[in-house]
Amino acid sequence: MTFDYTNAEHKLDKKIIELGKKEFLPAELVSLISNVAKIQLQAEKQAAPAMPEVSSLAPADENIQGRPLLARADFPYDHKQANELFESFSKILINLSGPIADATVLITEQIKNGDLDLEKVFAAYLEGDDSFFAKYGEETPEAPRTLNFLVQSSITPSIKVVARNIAVNLPTIEKEDVEAPTSVDLNIELSPPAARNHGHCPVCGSIPFIHELRHKQGFRYADCSFCHTEYRVRRLACAYCDQTDQSKMKFFNVEGEPGYRVEVCDGCNNYIKTIDFREMDKVSIPTLNDLESLPLDFLAVEEGYKRGTLSSWGF
Ligand SMILES: [Zn+2]
Ligand SMILES: [Zn+2]
Repeated sequence: MTFDYTNAEHKLDKKIIELGKKEFLPAELVSLISNVAKIQLQAEKQAAPAMPEVSSLAPADENIQGRPLLARADFPYDHKQANELFESFSKILINLSGPIADATVLITEQIKNGDLDLEKVFAAYLEGDDSFFAKYGEETPEAPRTLNFLVQSSITPSIKVVARNIAVNLPTIEKEDVEAPTSVDLNIELSPPAARNHGHCPVCGSIPFIHELRHKQGFRYADCSFCHTEYRVRRLACAYCDQTDQSKMKFFNVEGEPGYRVEVCDGCNNYIKTIDFREMDKVSIPTLNDLESLPLDFLAVEEGYKRGTLSSWGF
């Protein structure tokens, strides 16, 4: 199955127009993210990471038990492209004004004089070593996530391409292995994959940053915060602690933000946003939906819940 870039480009253009209408989003932020998203999409076409051998991926039975196909630290990436993107994105940030531009100037200088080794920074990102980025952020306290944003934005096109390639090796899950079908499921027109029994990503093992309801039955899909694979998950289960006790799960909507809701878990105190555009004429691009639904994050935090992941842009 080849990825349809033309369709992805159309969707991105439409989504950028939708984002531009959100008054709570600063125009400068929308313009930055739109610009980066467009460059990333073109970069995906060009990315040439060395693909892992199929024999190095987790076997089907272990994958069904929850072991990812490939641990995130083992993801290959196109080093040349990631370095070039890092430079391009740095230039875009330097052209903005304020703390983020100042932070990028410092990062660029440190790379030039050897104080910051970009290969090591990419490795820290792949290992999910957020303490490295948190510590580095102390050097740029006014814009502490700048390095993380740059690294993540630069490496993600490669990661997505690798994930898409290896995901074809995901085993098919037998329906009887998972949640019991409801009477609604019997009317199914499309045949979506069965839900996984774990909240984490079957391809790389990372946690999702957002959920989306699909099909007329409202099947629930998760979007991976690292490799951006979309996979079907159980209807009622926390993405972060896997608990299925319904009395501990709640959700709420936010006035003025149709198409989104917040699901909270009183077991682990995390929340996750859920997209539901089934009744709406809206384009869904999870990383941009994440930005579009920022008011829900403010509300969830106000209610005392924590977000299980960083924003999908690394800040
Ligand atoms: Zn993943
Ligand atoms: Zn939980």
